[in-house]
Amino acid sequence: MVTGAAGFIGSHLCERLLDEGHEVLGVDNYYTGSRRNLADLLAHPMFEVMRHDITMPLYVETDLIFNLACPASPIHYQRDPVQTLKTSVHGAINMLGLAKRVGASIVQASTSEVYGDPEPAVQAESYWGRVNPIGTRACYDEGKRAAETLFSDYRRQHGSDTKIVRIFNTYGPRMRPDDGRVVSNFIVQALRGEPITIYGDGVQTRAFCYVSDLVEGLLRMSRTPGEVSGPVNLGNPVEITVRALAEHIIAATGSASTIVSRPLPEDDPRQRCPDISLAKSLLGWEPTVDLETGLSRTIDYFRTLLATPV
Ligand code: NAD
Ligand code: UDP
Ligand code: UDP
Repeated sequence: MVTGAAGFIGSHLCERLLDEGHEVLGVDNYYTGSRRNLADLLAHPMFEVMRHDITMPLYVETDLIFNLACPASPIHYQRDPVQTLKTSVHGAINMLGLAKRVGASIVQASTSEVYGDPEPAVQAESYWGRVNPIGTRACYDEGKRAAETLFSDYRRQHGSDTKIVRIFNTYGPRMRPDDGRVVSNFIVQALRGEPITIYGDGVQTRAFCYVSDLVEGLLRMSRTPGEVSGPVNLGNPVEITVRALAEHIIAATGSASTIVSRPLPEDDPRQRCPDISLAKSLLGWEPTVDLETGLSRTIDYFRTLLATPV
């Protein structure tokens, strides 16, 4: 079972699970997801999708849950911050309750945002983070932190097989053109010949992981023995400034777009780069798709999408 199945990462995960011969139940309330992301899977005899909001109880049968339901882009998770926090907290309680009842393993899609605006240049799982609990990003960051607490306490209190991965910025086909995150924004702006909007001075950094690599990491984590709980960082540890990303995308699209500055959003982390030593040793995992290749595939996706009438 995959919650958030109609979203960007969820749809890729469903596709990969079906390719491997599993029966898959996708659950989504279509808050930020879209049916279009699942269009190619709907006819698959082993796939079923259910419209459901995970803040409500859910009684189904499953042996493995990937809990990905949650808006992930700042503009979307800040649109209805109370709902975002409910999705992380009430949603986690319901999915953990379900996992407990049926004896399923459950993998939580946590985030590098639990580290907040980090002090260490490279963030390892041992770092506890620096999060503003009352800022505009807190509905997401603190929600994901509370979900990690719930996953840890269901393991301690009920012996549940809970697993946490902390996902760093991931990109690829099936992001929404209006998603608001940096890779999709810059590519769509470049393809439309619109100005590329850099927030702040553009010297803030991120490290971008292509979606197929991320999905591989999620699967490997789900197959670890019951005693493995994480958290485990999953990301591509090649750090790049936002300005360099913009220049890269302008070159790769051959766009005539100019670069413009926009105000830096509140609490925007200045740096972010994963330490993936644990993922390497525990899961034998590391990314295989470099930024150039991943961006080129993503640009191809958006080029086709923007040329297709809705
Ligand atoms: P997304 O917005 O494309 O997908 C999230 C999906 O969850 C959407 O289909 C949405 O409709 C669904 N959803 C939201 N609230 C729900 C609810 N209450 N009940 C049922 N469904 C609900 O985002 P994504 O990038 O695919 O992210 C998937 C997960 O991975 C999220 O939990 C996100 O926090 C996490 N994550 C993603 C990234 C990234 O860079 N993409 C980084 C860190 C963590
Ligand atoms: N729950 C669910 N599906 C199930 C079992 C439980 O959605 O198959 C929800 C239910 O709403 C419950 C929550 O998960 O309140 C937590 O379940 P748990 O058994 O941990 O605690 P309870 O609240 O039942 O004591
Ligand atoms: N960003 C930007 N222009 C945009 C969108 C985002 O400069 O049009 C910046 C944003 O301020 C942040 C970085 O790009 O510093 C990554 O933003 P995103 O929303 O993709 O993810 P997150 O901040 O959650 O890592």
